[in-house]
Amino acid sequence: MPSPGEGLDRRLFLKGAAALTALPPTPSWAADAPYRFRHGEFEISIVSDGHMLVRTDLLAPGAPEPERSATLRAAGQTGERFQYPTNLTLIRSPSDLVLIDAGAGPNFMPTTGRVADNLTAAGIDPGEITKVILTHAHPDHIWGVVGDFDDLQFPNASYMISAAEWSYWMGDDAFRGISEDRQNFVPGARRSLGRIKDRLTLVKPGEELARGLRALDTAGHSPGHISIEAAGGEGLIVGGDAITHPLLSFRHPGWPSMGDQDQERAASVRKRLLDRLATDRAKLIGFHLPYPGLGHVERAQDGYRFAPAT
Ligand SMILES: [Zn+2]
Repeated sequence: MPSPGEGLDRRLFLKGAAALTALPPTPSWAADAPYRFRHGEFEISIVSDGHMLVRTDLLAPGAPEPERSATLRAAGQTGERFQYPTNLTLIRSPSDLVLIDAGAGPNFMPTTGRVADNLTAAGIDPGEITKVILTHAHPDHIWGVVGDFDDLQFPNASYMISAAEWSYWMGDDAFRGISEDRQNFVPGARRSLGRIKDRLTLVKPGEELARGLRALDTAGHSPGHISIEAAGGEGLIVGGDAITHPLLSFRHPGWPSMGDQDQERAASVRKRLLDRLATDRAKLIGFHLPYPGLGHVERAQDGYRFAPAT
């Protein structure tokens, strides 16, 4: 995972904002239409926040060769960098309009931060969103709580994050728990959490977060990472970053995955989640799986396989 292009220093932010005015007003990838489907009583849309450009050598660091290279070749990822999708899940229920994760906002990478534009282009006013549930506080999931002018992107929403995630990022050990190249995740998370703290509820795994939506403990990728289970049919899990790669995470769930803070715990969570998804035939939405990131998990001779819905 590359370091964010910009810090959150106010001067840098203003400099960045000035530079942005020189860009063409409507990038060609601004209006990706959401992918929609029904699940139980929910109408679900998967909305792109753009894509990240990620260093291929950071995928499955330390995994055995030549299996690692062969898997990456099979995924078509032979270049120095690859495009890493970012899929946000919007769930309309009879009582709420819930967004899972807030995207990266304007200060992370030039190719991310598109969710508000994509929602608006699809006729959905970001002001309609009643709840934003954050799976964790990494930049591509939380920095988007604010927009270009430090305004709240989802101005009428309440917010939820796990108590464990809050305690980690706000606590004294945050800098010690994260690698050198990701130190600026700490001030970024603190600033984002600070911006929403008056509207924020700290939740625990197992709690119902909105009608039919429950938090599931998938800590490991980050210290308080949660996934969201949606009731109905054979089940649906919005997995956040517990399962991130369409081949590596399924064929080799025990290998460390890019950005996992606690690699051992993340690997055991991934195995447990894959086993459950395959057994239940539940749907999975993966934040970084190829857009729209929706599919099923199947058992395969060499581990598991992702069966995309599209
Ligand atoms: Zn992520």
